[in-house]
Amino acid sequence: MEQPTVYAADVAAPLPSAGPLPTRADLAIVGGGLTGLSAALHGARRGLRVVLCEAGELANGASGRNGGQLHPGQRRDQIYLKETLGADAAAALWALGEEAVALIHRLRTELNADCHWHPGLIEACHTEAHFDDAREYADYLDYTHDAPSQVLDKAALAQAIGTNRYVGGVRDPAGGHLNPFALAAALSLHAHLSGAHLHAPARVTSVGEDNTLKVATDEGERVVRTDAVLLAGNGYMRGLDPWLDARILPLVNHIIATAPLPEPVIPGGEAVSDTRAVIRYFRQDHLGRMIFGGGESFGRRPRDVAAFVRPYLREVYPQLADSPVDAAWSGTLGITAERLPIIRELRPGRYVAAGFSGQGVGLSVFAGKLIADAIAGDRSGVETFAQLKARPFPGGPRLQGTIARIAMAWFAVRDRLG
Ligand SMILES: Cc1cc2nc3c(=O)[nH]c(=O)nc-3n(C[C@H](O)[C@H](O)[C@H](O)COP(=O)(O)OP(=O)(O)OC[C@H]3O[C@@H](n4cnc5c(N)ncnc54)[C@H](O)[C@@H]3O)c2cc1C
Repeated sequence: MEQPTVYAADVAAPLPSAGPLPTRADLAIVGGGLTGLSAALHGARRGLRVVLCEAGELANGASGRNGGQLHPGQRRDQIYLKETLGADAAAALWALGEEAVALIHRLRTELNADCHWHPGLIEACHTEAHFDDAREYADYLDYTHDAPSQVLDKAALAQAIGTNRYVGGVRDPAGGHLNPFALAAALSLHAHLSGAHLHAPARVTSVGEDNTLKVATDEGERVVRTDAVLLAGNGYMRGLDPWLDARILPLVNHIIATAPLPEPVIPGGEAVSDTRAVIRYFRQDHLGRMIFGGGESFGRRPRDVAAFVRPYLREVYPQLADSPVDAAWSGTLGITAERLPIIRELRPGRYVAAGFSGQGVGLSVFAGKLIADAIAGDRSGVETFAQLKARPFPGGPRLQGTIARIAMAWFAVRDRLG
């Protein structure tokens, strides 16, 4: 059972379509998060018969439970992409990252999504070495990609984010934050209005060689025959495609939302994420609540999420340690070994878009559109992403838990040692 978020209190939950699950589709989608809902909207707008199956409730996976921070670019930096893929592919990925952010803004307006967008994203560095890297990279992006940002020394950063726990940072005006559940709800409504059938609860239990889906519904097992299928279950999906299971690690991440604070702690209202491997990310929403993410786990969720996240909050904002809490919740994200998404056609007619590795608010929506574009004949975006490496995690799915726990412990120690 997923805990309620503050987002769900602000926005009406998206509703599934009425009527029986259609048995025939041009595009069948597994998963009703930002990826699946965007593919449904864009597929239906292209005239495809779209059927989306969601195992639980629409937008109640990572998409409705995340930190709401919109990061421009890819999850790995341009220097890494250039070194591993070459200058052309890196440039193409940068351009797609820009398109992803532009798409979010276009959809916010076009769909009238009540998602409280606020511009500005600050990277807060927890060591001098990370600050040196961040400064250098800011210069690099300004010079090579015409993407200016503002370097903040320790004092300026402390003033900007209301804590002196970091050594410096960089403010990116192109990033920002929003209510992701509101965006997903708007995508869902407009996918439905465009003719997509969104079915929930409907758990896909198998995808055949010919991409036929078996689906467990309240009315019993149903079969959906389709020309194309999109696997968009991300960190929540297991057992449908062994290739994918070996490459997506489900990690659980945790968030606390305080009650509205009497004074703004982040006067410019930016979103903040830090440079730790076990990342802390935070922002104040339109009501002044501090939405603070910290700590991760594999498999089980802590029974008391607020108690689990509070030490991370205390470390960054000692003055907020005892603030009253409006809600605390967990969500599962899909991580890849490269920390870059898997967006590609796995075999004829079987597409995947998953593994956004904690940076999916912009890219998941964009990936859903790219898959719809590919099915309609424009494959360029999907082919660019398909160049990214997708190595399996060592040990296979059976050992993923053990490896994840060792890695998390190691990263936590490394963060502490700086
Ligand atoms: C706590 C948390 C904080 C995050 N913060 C940020 C952030 O601040 N910025 C950012 O960019 N990214 C963030 N992310 C990542 C971001 O939320 C995800 O990358 C993005 O939402 C992925 O969307 P999705 O649609 O691919 O997956 P999801 O939203 O997880 O949706 C997958 C859906 O598939 C369904 N499903 C799974 N298996 C089946 C099946 N067999 N049959 C039918 N349905 C199935 C699930 O029920 C689920 O609803 C965060 C993630 C978490 C968990």
